[in-house]
Amino acid sequence: MKRTFTCIVCPNGCEIEAEYEGTNVLSVTGNLCPKGRTYVTQELVDPRRTIASSVRVSGGTLPLASVRLTQPIPKDRIFDVMKVINGVELTAPVQIGQVVVRDVLGLGSDVIVTKNIPAA
Ligand code: SF4
Repeated sequence: MKRTFTCIVCPNGCEIEAEYEGTNVLSVTGNLCPKGRTYVTQELVDPRRTIASSVRVSGGTLPLASVRLTQPIPKDRIFDVMKVINGVELTAPVQIGQVVVRDVLGLGSDVIVTKNIPAA
């Protein structure tokens, strides 16, 4: 089979034409580096994504704090993890790097804060 992938490993965003059988990559073209082939293989075997979102903060100078995952998670679990993130409410002050949810849904990734929110 043939399919085009957009590599998201770096900002180059290479469009990679891949020929594969099942999860076996036969050939790739369009990738500027070997990571593109690894990315295509990962996409075929176990596609993963990371999430950047925000959580509510009470008693702070801003009502929301941005958060991200520390590791990519299986693509088909993003909706479940977003439900967990949407249910979080923190109390200010909030610090960059603060763990909001440890090992979210047992997926091996933490949700951490990426913006300081001082108390109001
Ligand atoms: S193939 Fe290499 S250069 Fe191209 S987007 Fe992926 S990591 Fe970046």
